[in-house]
Amino acid sequence: MAGKRESFTIAGAGIAGPVLALFLKRAGYEVRLMESYPRPAEDIGGALQIAPNGMKVIRALGLVEELLKIGTPSDEMIFRNHKGRLLGIIPNGSPEKFGEEAIVVSRSSFHLLLLNAAKREGIPTEYGKRFLSAEFPLDGGVVSKFEDGTLAYSDYLLGADGTHSKVRNFLFPNFPQPEYTGIVNAGGFVSADVIPAKYARRGPIHFTFGPEGFFGFAACGKTRDTSWMWWSNLPREKEFTREELESMDLEAWRNHLLELHKGWYEPIESIIKASHSILKGNVHDLRSLPSWGTEKVLLVGDAAHVMSPHTGQGASMALEDAHSLSILLERSNTVSDAFREFERIRRPRVERIIEQSRRNGNHKKKLSPIGCWIRDRILTIVLPKFAVKGQDWLYQYDGV
Ligand SMILES: Cc1cc2nc3c(=O)[nH]c(=O)nc-3n(C[C@H](O)[C@H](O)[C@H](O)COP(=O)(O)OP(=O)(O)OC[C@H]3O[C@@H](n4cnc5c(N)ncnc54)[C@H](O)[C@@H]3O)c2cc1C
Repeated sequence: MAGKRESFTIAGAGIAGPVLALFLKRAGYEVRLMESYPRPAEDIGGALQIAPNGMKVIRALGLVEELLKIGTPSDEMIFRNHKGRLLGIIPNGSPEKFGEEAIVVSRSSFHLLLLNAAKREGIPTEYGKRFLSAEFPLDGGVVSKFEDGTLAYSDYLLGADGTHSKVRNFLFPNFPQPEYTGIVNAGGFVSADVIPAKYARRGPIHFTFGPEGFFGFAACGKTRDTSWMWWSNLPREKEFTREELESMDLEAWRNHLLELHKGWYEPIESIIKASHSILKGNVHDLRSLPSWGTEKVLLVGDAAHVMSPHTGQGASMALEDAHSLSILLERSNTVSDAFREFERIRRPRVERIIEQSRRNGNHKKKLSPIGCWIRDRILTIVLPKFAVKGQDWLYQYDGV
């Protein structure tokens, strides 16, 4: 067991950051949680699924009841083509088999739940602290430097600062960078009034494959205005530049989506028309990093492994990472041993999911009418036979 009075600085208070802070504090370590945003990022982001494997971590944190107040359990996945033709229905895991149900929740409310839980346990997030660099004094420890001049002294540094991790880029400036996957993502929320009775049961996630792109929607959360979430994946040769993303206004973006999803079955056009805001971004992944850390620093969550969203596992992997590390710290002689073991154990699982997500994303690229026909036939056969089996390794998580 690693020494209990050792201390950690965590750079990044997204999903992995506060969960790491909670597990480490409960295990007796000293923790500082540093976030670059100036305040909690309310109302940023769309919705995400916490899969049964991620829910096991929420259970270990004791936060299931709280999460159920803001999220919606999902028991089914329904696949259609853009004309509304049914391609398959499969269960979204099953509590009997995997021990937990999947929950769909808005990212911002889930994020706040985690930050509040950390705060209640004496780990307030320190906002406006953008990690810049670190020094490693000869007498041990890490001095983490932040853009506002703050210095954080600790024995170890955890980089939980997401896809474009500064901790990763500082430690390993020559490592590969997240790669654009040829898909852009859009999403938002609508009220339940927009959803026709045929689709109104809160439980299924609806997946729709078209000739170009993809559209999904599901019940999410309890507030009336944001009680359904949607997302759209669109193939695009070049990624949007930051200027393009910032300059395209809501109505231009809405029109772009309406054009691409024109003629798709209802309620897809109605959902796009009814959204008060639409988030947008490029989809990246990062297939494999040569290393996840050093003796003193470890990358966790998206900082270590960027996955595209097509298996719905980004948040669950961040949760698993935090939980696994806490277990390995308990089992290891030193923190550095735990870091090495963490990378050895976690890498095969997350890299397999990154590849699976890429493959799933390829079904969303542009197809000819005959290509659509073939894809629909294949999905009709494959979904009932293999998709449920495919959940076995994805949703099974037993602690490391
Ligand atoms: C604002 C936002 C919105 C998102 N929306 C969605 C969504 O709609 N659907 C979805 O499936 N996934 C979304 N994601 C991604 C998803 O939440 C993550 O893939 C996943 O949960 C992995 O969690 P993570 O903690 O590793 O990384 P993240 O959740 O990305 O958290 C990283 C944190 O580090 C902070 N940070 C970045 N750089 C620094 C720095 N230099 N110093 C200190 N802190 C830093 C970021 O502000 C962020 O809070 C979103 C992520 C963010 C940050």
